[in-house]
Amino acid sequence: MEQRTQISYTGIAASPGIAIGEVRLLDRRRISVQEYKISPEQIEEEISVFLEAVELARKQLELVQRELVRQSKTEHFYIIDTQLLILKDAMLIDSTSELIRTELINAAGALKKVLRRFAAVFERIEDEYLRERGSDIELVGERIIRNINGMELPQVGELERRSVIVAHDLSPADTCQFDVDLVVAFVTDLGGPTSHTAILARSMEIPAVVGLEKITRLVGDNTPVIVDGNSGVLICNPDAETLKKYLELKRHYEFYKKQLRSYCELPAVTADGKNISMQANIEFLPEADIALNNGAQGIGLLRTEFMYMARLQPPTEEEQFQSYKKAAELFAPYPVTIRTLDIGGDKFVSDISLEDESNPAMGLRSIRMSLCEKRLFRIQLRAILRASAYGNVRLMFPMISGLAEVRAAGEIITQVMQELENEGISFNRDLKVGIMVETPSAVFVADILAAEVDFFSIGTNDLIQYCLAVDRGNEHVAYLYEPFHPAILRALKHIADAAHAAEIDLCICGEMAAEPMFSIVLVALGYSQLSMSSQGISRVKKLIRQWDTGHSQELIDILMEQKTAADVLRVLKEKLRQFIPDADPTLDY
Ligand code: PEP
Ligand code: MG
Repeated sequence: MEQRTQISYTGIAASPGIAIGEVRLLDRRRISVQEYKISPEQIEEEISVFLEAVELARKQLELVQRELVRQSKTEHFYIIDTQLLILKDAMLIDSTSELIRTELINAAGALKKVLRRFAAVFERIEDEYLRERGSDIELVGERIIRNINGMELPQVGELERRSVIVAHDLSPADTCQFDVDLVVAFVTDLGGPTSHTAILARSMEIPAVVGLEKITRLVGDNTPVIVDGNSGVLICNPDAETLKKYLELKRHYEFYKKQLRSYCELPAVTADGKNISMQANIEFLPEADIALNNGAQGIGLLRTEFMYMARLQPPTEEEQFQSYKKAAELFAPYPVTIRTLDIGGDKFVSDISLEDESNPAMGLRSIRMSLCEKRLFRIQLRAILRASAYGNVRLMFPMISGLAEVRAAGEIITQVMQELENEGISFNRDLKVGIMVETPSAVFVADILAAEVDFFSIGTNDLIQYCLAVDRGNEHVAYLYEPFHPAILRALKHIADAAHAAEIDLCICGEMAAEPMFSIVLVALGYSQLSMSSQGISRVKKLIRQWDTGHSQELIDILMEQKTAADVLRVLKEKLRQFIPDADPTLDY
């Protein structure tokens, strides 16, 4: 028998866990599209070929939705909904028909051109999560092109063994055809940590490695592989020693995961009885169920950007209201913290088009953009206020850099409240209004801000980027992105002190809260509400339940004396081992 050599590929760890199985290739490489000239007499025919392909795509997607319902995978509905919305979008449909007519090109060629324009817009988006949403348009486009060309969608066929699905990209429509008992991992050419494959895999609790670029061309069907979703590695043809090592790691990880599950139900109470509120960060409504299943006691951050991004026109007040209301009802009496739009003008494909900015991270974005585009801002505020009548809604403004912005936004809230009152529409007049503290200036004036808002929520993802002047998405400076940097520790302490002095709620919704070790530092600093992606909740809870706040002062005092991030980390580990001797040293740290 031919002995193949072991070879490893490193991609992006998208969903944790270890899987061992055989490759099943899902061939979804780009289909090549011929563009050619048509005669004026062929225009109407080409347009109708295009429109029929769109209609067929709609029917196919509705079928997928029915299949998702049958398989009880409704949590992925929103992705198909998004694709259905794209199919209806005038920009896609009209622009393609227009190109066929004016440039006399065939339907598939015209559509490809339009798709390229969309792709160019999405590629410019800074926010990685939102950038990934461009893949929805790409997937829809590919479906229409296949329909125009009368091509079947790729299939994996019957699975007989434990299979690792290797694909260019994956969508929920693809996952419908899998026998989930036999699919042990996903591996894709495309994608980052917030791609569809990553989101799907995490919610299905299947290990995944994405962003391997050309892996569909490098591995063949039936190749034995190990997928390490914890470190983002794919090992093909593993030798006996590697296999043994990974079997052990897999056993260890699965035991740990099982143990963690028992923590979902338990409250996050420290060993000495202090309650910590564990909340979830979510992007779309369907994630709310995952949050509840993981024991979230509310939503600490509802990012509303997705609603604006996955489509080409901003959402209506009614649409937003329905979505916020559902979240509020689902979590009542726990809080649902709705953050107003946190993106800039360059993120919109249509409606608002602002000039390109050379430094968008510091440009007209977030609350600045809302205060500039007041019409959109008012629509969102009306929707949030209306939803506040149905649960414990909190309103939050992102990227506040000073009190003037808080006051300007506050004035608009007052006007919108008055408007609703005049219209006889109910809302909670006492709803809590807070801000994200994520700019250095907000840290410096935390005392001034604390006097005029109901709560702070610290956005450490941005706070670290702005404080340390390190672009959070730039891999060349990623080594400088240090959550344990003494400057960050000092900032967190400064903010906490200001919030405590003003007696306002203190939350954190940056990903740092999901790091168990750091969560202890936050609790020790007096942060009583921690919000993070749902999957992180039980890990954090486990350690918090072992922490005695009697040690908090000593821990903070010694950490504050440290001079570098490495020192902070070393001392933190030492202290946690000292104060929580039975904490699992391999997995929690
Ligand atoms: C943050 O900046 O920490 C945060 C939670 O918000 P986002 O990641 O959406 O910028
Ligand atoms: Mg932020």
